[in-house]
Amino acid sequence: MYKKLFIPGPTHVRDEILLAQTAPMIGHRAPEYSALQLAVTAKLQQLLSTAPRVYLYARSSTGVMARSVRQASTRRMLNTVCGAFSKRWHQITAANGVPCDAISVSVGQAVTPELVDEALSKGGYDAITVVMNETSTGLMNPVAEIAALVREKYPDVLVLVDAVSCMAGVKIEFDAWGLDVCLAGVQKCFALPAGLTVCAVSDRARQRAKLVPNPGYYFAYADMDKRYEKGQTPATPAISLIQALNQQMDDILAAGLEARWQRHREMATIVQDWAREHFGLYSDERYLSETVTNVENTRGISVAGLNEELGKRGAMISNGYGELKEKCFRIAHMGDLTVDDIRWLLGEIDDILGLA
Ligand SMILES: *Cc1c(COP(=O)(O)O)cnc(C)c1O
Repeated sequence: MYKKLFIPGPTHVRDEILLAQTAPMIGHRAPEYSALQLAVTAKLQQLLSTAPRVYLYARSSTGVMARSVRQASTRRMLNTVCGAFSKRWHQITAANGVPCDAISVSVGQAVTPELVDEALSKGGYDAITVVMNETSTGLMNPVAEIAALVREKYPDVLVLVDAVSCMAGVKIEFDAWGLDVCLAGVQKCFALPAGLTVCAVSDRARQRAKLVPNPGYYFAYADMDKRYEKGQTPATPAISLIQALNQQMDDILAAGLEARWQRHREMATIVQDWAREHFGLYSDERYLSETVTNVENTRGISVAGLNEELGKRGAMISNGYGELKEKCFRIAHMGDLTVDDIRWLLGEIDDILGLA
């Protein structure tokens, strides 16, 4: 049976978007392709309140997380860690041979500007990584405030943001916040099939990349820039996904960005209220995510059992991530899901668990 996805990626994809992938193939050096890429890029710049460069990578987010740290530092990188995905970025940084340190807060807590300030004040760093929406704990770090602090006090430090599970679900102002890299795979809030990553990059970051001894080749900004103005990528792009993204961006912009942010906030509030009434909320209430809620399993239900029952009714949620398995469960409210979808899902859970 088809299951509607309420998991934090991949998310439910509308039929219109699935169909948009089946448009006839075009050559990636043909003018039609250039027009497509230039159009998509302009729409993404609108989504991000403008960014100097928006690259399209035929890869899942993790690959671009790796490529971005590889091009960002000539000295030492600071990785902020507040859960599984931010921890992974630290591991990726180390694995790519970039000298780095991690500062960690306990799982369910947010990274604050004060913490970042304390760590950067020790000196020696020229870049930091922050996961904007920590998908494993359902928590949103105050990226705008962190970036403001860095821009004001540490102008040489690049701010790299993993916005994988919130870009296109919450407002991001790339230029005004002073970000340097902001990336997201399209299988989450963009509500597309997986395989394409959007990555906004500042001029500062492109200049830095020129000083890095081994920025790599495939996906290096310098390589991407060779054909950027022309609306092309150095290697063959994920043409079908970009065609679908173009359609999705048209739909997103036509419905209005404010309406999209508002719908995400509304869905989050409904799930949070429901969780407070019947279970608990795992993460710091001041920083709850607007795209995914990590519900604390205070009733000791079998999460796997609940998901099995939901499956019979055509829905799927996520278990807790890693060590939080069965201790928590996650309900994603992102992408093209609606308030009605969320109310339906919660009604089914109430019915299965006898909560209503
Ligand atoms: C999903 C996710 C990733 C990994 O994305 P892939 O597409 O699987 O590479 C990274 N960071 C965050 C915050 C995520 O939610």
